[in-house]
Amino acid sequence: MFHYDGPRNKQPQAPCWFCLSNVDAEKHLVVSVGNSCYAAMPKGPLTNEHVMILSIGHIQSQVSAPVAVRDEIEKFKSAFTLMANKTGKALVTFERNFRTQHLQVQMVAIDKASTRALKGAFMNSAALAGFELVTIGHDEHLSDLVNEGCPYFVAELPDGSKLFTRSMKGFPLQFGREVLASAPILDCEEKIDWKKCVLEKEKEIELVNKLKEAFKPFDFTAEDDSD
Ligand SMILES: [Zn+2]
Repeated sequence: MFHYDGPRNKQPQAPCWFCLSNVDAEKHLVVSVGNSCYAAMPKGPLTNEHVMILSIGHIQSQVSAPVAVRDEIEKFKSAFTLMANKTGKALVTFERNFRTQHLQVQMVAIDKASTRALKGAFMNSAALAGFELVTIGHDEHLSDLVNEGCPYFVAELPDGSKLFTRSMKGFPLQFGREVLASAPILDCEEKIDWKKCVLEKEKEIELVNKLKEAFKPFDFTAEDDSD
């Protein structure tokens, strides 16, 4: 079994909601479980296809994650990209390593027609909030730009380009959701704050079952089963 406890990946004092081993974790939200990561629907999803990828064990961020975890995040990203493409959509991902303690990469499918407005929406929202996002190249890795333990935000657009910042002064915690919920993208601004759109448990179970069904043809984790 995979184990890693680098300096930034210490077990937190209080039980962590995102550690899959936590008995209190909301397991009915889990869509698929791999070797070192799992996919789950977030509380208060932006859309019916909103998922997040989390490490199974307690790891702070992608930058502090070992290669096996990063590789599996990429596998999930590819699989959810294919799933989005099937319905004519494109996948946007983002990670906020700021005032969080457990690795979580959000993945949201948007209409392909909205992708042209995407970069502008991110840039404008950043400017309004008073910080700058820089575009990073395909060949640049997060770990080259930021040290382990240093906070950052990164979004990956459907064309593979990444928008990045590590200036977190006044960074809005709902930034990624705010951009995607805006009128030119998903147009669901009432869902910017996840706490305001938490669903009933029955509805969550229904959506997760639909997600599991839709993800099945793309789910690489099933190939690892030995039976
Ligand atoms: Zn955790």
